[in-house]
Amino acid sequence: MSKLANKVALVTGGSRGIGAAIAKRLASDGASVAITYAKDATSASAVVKAIEGAGGKAIAIQADAADAKAVAAAVAQAVASLGRLDVLVNNAGTAIPKPFEETTLEEMDRMVDINLRGIFVATKEALKHMNDGGRIIMIGSCVGERVLTPGLVAYSATKGAVKMFTQGLSREVGARGITVNNVQPGPIDTDLNPAAGDWATPQKAVTALNRYGTVEEVAALVSFVASPEASYITGANLTVDGGTNA
Ligand code: NDP
Repeated sequence: MSKLANKVALVTGGSRGIGAAIAKRLASDGASVAITYAKDATSASAVVKAIEGAGGKAIAIQADAADAKAVAAAVAQAVASLGRLDVLVNNAGTAIPKPFEETTLEEMDRMVDINLRGIFVATKEALKHMNDGGRIIMIGSCVGERVLTPGLVAYSATKGAVKMFTQGLSREVGARGITVNNVQPGPIDTDLNPAAGDWATPQKAVTALNRYGTVEEVAALVSFVASPEASYITGANLTVDGGTNA
């Protein structure tokens, strides 16, 4: 039997990039999947169609991670439509890379609202519905632990906060058998961080493998952490960064 058969997962920011790959992977492992997205309804519906085309079950819900009411409604809708909630993947996030002295307060607020406050809201709502033995998985970043390139002061601060959010929360929900882990990607080729972009050369240079990673390589780790086999892993920061932080 598929390892996530009869499980329901909610992936925030699942219409493109890493989130879309996670949604497809969890569905191929047997989970029914709800994804949220902010703007790109066409891409969200393509992810749903791809999952359905492969014999799985999926829904897409528009909910900006910076809008607490919309996120709460999305969690409720996912549970109402799919019947339960076992896995939350807090993937929605954004980066506005620029030198610190050019970063505005509005840009800092935007990253905090999506990368940190959005996780707070989604996780609080999800825990109201989540079954014992559930999984909460953050998509942090390797720069939440070590910053090797300039331009990421504000972004890395939000991801460092995600790391501690994960560790702290793991202490509060362990009694329910719920694990909380932080998957920390390195440079992954997406619209947010294209392998051919201006910022790519220094990021690739600091990997041990001398390449960008793929969204599927991140999804594979998330799939494992979501699975019953990962039941004794919690409060962990699991880096999938090609050796960037080695
Ligand atoms: P992309 O920009 O390629 O995709 C982002 C996804 O999140 C889209 O589905 C987008 O939907 C959705 N999204 C964006 N903003 C919001 C929002 N406010 N509310 C809800 N959904 C939103 O990003 P990546 O796939 O590269 O990044 C995903 C996560 O991985 C982020 O948390 C990022 O910080 C993290 N990460 C990425 C790395 C990389 O190198 N790519 C490295 C380390 C961490 P829509 O199009 O509808 O707006």
